[in-house]
Amino acid sequence: MAKQSVADIDPQGKTVLVRVDFNVPQDDSGVITDDRRIRMALPTIRSILDRGGKAVLMSHLGRPAGKGHEPAFSLAPVANRLGELLGTPVVLAADTGGADSQAKAAALPAGGVLVLENVRFNKGEKKGDDAAYVAGLAALADAYVNDAFGTCHRTEASMHAVPVAMKAAGKPAVSGFLVEKEIRYLSDAIAKPKRPFVAILGGKKVSDKIAVITNLLSICDHVLIGGAMAYTFSLAQGGKTGKSLVEPDKVELARELVAKGGSKLVLPVDTHCADAFSAAANKQVVKAGAIPEGFEGLDIGPETARRYADIIRGAGTVVWNGPMGVFELPPFDAGTKAVADAVAEATAKGAITIIGGGDSAAAVEQLGYADKVSHVSTGGGASLELLEGKAFETVAALDEK
Ligand code: AMP
Repeated sequence: MAKQSVADIDPQGKTVLVRVDFNVPQDDSGVITDDRRIRMALPTIRSILDRGGKAVLMSHLGRPAGKGHEPAFSLAPVANRLGELLGTPVVLAADTGGADSQAKAAALPAGGVLVLENVRFNKGEKKGDDAAYVAGLAALADAYVNDAFGTCHRTEASMHAVPVAMKAAGKPAVSGFLVEKEIRYLSDAIAKPKRPFVAILGGKKVSDKIAVITNLLSICDHVLIGGAMAYTFSLAQGGKTGKSLVEPDKVELARELVAKGGSKLVLPVDTHCADAFSAAANKQVVKAGAIPEGFEGLDIGPETARRYADIIRGAGTVVWNGPMGVFELPPFDAGTKAVADAVAEATAKGAITIIGGGDSAAAVEQLGYADKVSHVSTGGGASLELLEGKAFETVAALDEK
């Protein structure tokens, strides 16, 4: 069920409303620390401008209260950065579809760019069906483009009600290039993986990833488990986990996943642990399930890293969500690094390798592997939902090819 993309519309002389995901991290003084999400939307924006269109962009940023303008969540720094990246002036509207947006959108020249203020300044955004808010946005443009992959799993107004309203008014609603690419990579990996298909799942909690583990166990050849979630599996097998992060109420579930997974589910054989959450702590490598009292597991051990790397190097498809340990705190980045290295090697040998958004993407970027894999997703929650086998209502609402 392919969706039309921005390439299928003719933006010449038209105004195109693009929902982007410009929810970028900023430091305390409002300086953008990672502009990847802005850069990833450029192909869609440029495609509209280069063909004589006008682009009106809308996004959320952070979690304002939904009660009007809050300076800390303004899109002003984002509009500035976008202007630098595009090399053209970018206008910022003071509201989201209100009088200022209408006036500034109407005044845009061909090739002009307008950024609306944070959609989440409006209570109608989260509510999803506030008629006046939706109508204000829908009236701004002749066509709608969804290029906000990181938000595709949320049916907020700008993601769902607005394209639905625009379609009802006979206007096209299509996907942007980023959404198209993300969905192609993630859905194809699941639908027709080149085998062996290896999933690597880490991060803090089993509870966040139950649906992903369950779905991937039914389609993958190997599911490798790392991160703190491995200790809940260890508890389920009667192991000792010291003061590691565990979820005692998920032990039964971990036991079921072990039984369901059989030899597909691969658990760590050793653990790098420490007596405090610090690089200066006393550290030791122990067998999995033998973490001493007073110690906590902070990374997979070297033998596990070797085994996982061997499996990954032979893969045809790899999907990876969640770091193998506390990669932010060396030396507990070693397991994540070894896995990243093997994923890069598999990619070089022709495997399709996909890194889920969020912390795994941050780890791969931080360790310098972003250019050595097939695809780094811009969406944490969104990529997880696709790996769970879910479809997006927001994308389903767009025009078919
Ligand atoms: P998640 O958001 O669930 O993907 O988890 C990512 C976070 O899990 C990162 O900040 C890691 O530092 C953390 N993490 C990974 N392994 C461990 C561990 N063994 N103990 C504590 N935190 C961990």
